[in-house]
Amino acid sequence: MTFVIGKECIDNQDHSCIDVCPVDCIYEGDRKNYINPVECIDCGACELVCPEMAIFPARKARNDVTRQEFVQDNAAFFALPLPGRDEPLGNPGGARELGHVDADTPLVHGWPSA
Ligand code: SF4
Repeated sequence: MTFVIGKECIDNQDHSCIDVCPVDCIYEGDRKNYINPVECIDCGACELVCPEMAIFPARKARNDVTRQEFVQDNAAFFALPLPGRDEPLGNPGGARELGHVDADTPLVHGWPSA
């Protein structure tokens, strides 16, 4: 199981979660941050510091359609080629080295601005 970043992060992208993640698995997209579900060690540190309360454990998405959508979407950020790219990101093994990813999933890219 993994932790997931939900819709509250879109256009807010606080970096507290990135700063506390012990395995550097929170990646910065254009409008939102994404947790790599393969690299996450399920420690919960990010959930505690997010000022937007955007982060939740995937197991708590069961009865919430929007949260379920973001569970799939966080995984898709790494598993599918992002717009403008030929290859998926995969599991880069560290967000700092990869740096800012200048793209989002189609779901987030098309999400209405607040
Ligand atoms: Fe990183 Fe822990 Fe959050 Fe997973 S649960 S993204 S390992 S801080």
